[in-house]
Amino acid sequence: MQKVIDLRSDTLTKPSDGMRRAIADAVVGDSMYIEDPTVIELESYAAKIMGKEAAIFVPSGTMSNLVAVMAHTWERGAEILLGDCSHIHINEQGNIGTIAHVHSRTLTNKSDGTFSIDELVSKIRYNVDSLFPNTALVCIENTHNICNGTPLPLEFIDKVCEIAKSNGIAVHMDGARIFNASLKTGVSVDRIIKNCDSLSFCLSKGLGCPIGSVLVGSKPFIQRAIRCRRVLGGGMRQAGVLAAAGLFALRHNIERMHLDHKHAFMIASAIANQNKSFIKIDMKNIHTNIGYIDVDPKWMTASQLQMRRKLNLESDVLPSKWVSKLQPEYDLLLI
Ligand SMILES: *Cc1c(COP(=O)(O)O)cnc(C)c1O
Repeated sequence: MQKVIDLRSDTLTKPSDGMRRAIADAVVGDSMYIEDPTVIELESYAAKIMGKEAAIFVPSGTMSNLVAVMAHTWERGAEILLGDCSHIHINEQGNIGTIAHVHSRTLTNKSDGTFSIDELVSKIRYNVDSLFPNTALVCIENTHNICNGTPLPLEFIDKVCEIAKSNGIAVHMDGARIFNASLKTGVSVDRIIKNCDSLSFCLSKGLGCPIGSVLVGSKPFIQRAIRCRRVLGGGMRQAGVLAAAGLFALRHNIERMHLDHKHAFMIASAIANQNKSFIKIDMKNIHTNIGYIDVDPKWMTASQLQMRRKLNLESDVLPSKWVSKLQPEYDLLLI
């Protein structure tokens, strides 16, 4: 029997047996009344490891970022500054415009996920009269998804925060993969976000949970976030069954994440070493658990490649000899 490992995204991870047991055993209550002990435990545990006052459990990373933007831009007429390749700008349907009614202004992302500090400074708007929106928030992304999963340098994060603070502007970090960033840089998660006002991280990616994100920040910020989550329909009832998965992941799954980085590197090297003109990967772009593969559409389009995998056709992409290097129990690996 062949086993197929689907590596389209770290969102495809499934709960382990231990996580399923934690879900089954969860003690629950109505979390909208703040009476679900497991949700309360997850939120306080997350706040503690992130070094912030409070946290809120949210169904998805997209909602978590939206809630963060809404809670930071409480007054009408706000503008946020964010990278032009950021997930919030590219992959969340423009919800900060259509739902949060916030104006966004982009900063050009460099290949490492940063942007120019001079550009940031030049784009902060002072509301000298009624012409401009008020710059209220800067968003940064760590690790940066589209920029090949790069972890942001700590000096960059601290500099952005310093400039924002001196201008009375908040900083939100979309840290969907903050633990990957911490692992790669060797800097603790609480230190990474020390100067940021808020952080959103995903439980449903490399941490292996079926659902969920957590947003952390100050107590007044989280109070506003609770209202924003509710208006978006994200208030949950007996969510302890989901929070139990989150707690399990934070306690057991962070320590195995280095394997994801190792595997991404091995897969990328295997592709690169093929020296094929129709399927390429640049080893310089492998930083954490993300690897973007360039496929020549004359050979096969990306969607055709995906279709082959879905239909579980035999792989002519990766020779099986590579697979034995990964994990002996798997005899076929399709990307
Ligand atoms: C996955 C991701 C999110 C959240 O996505 P959801 O699918 O809503 O959980 C946010 N930011 C980044 C950078 C992501 O990769």
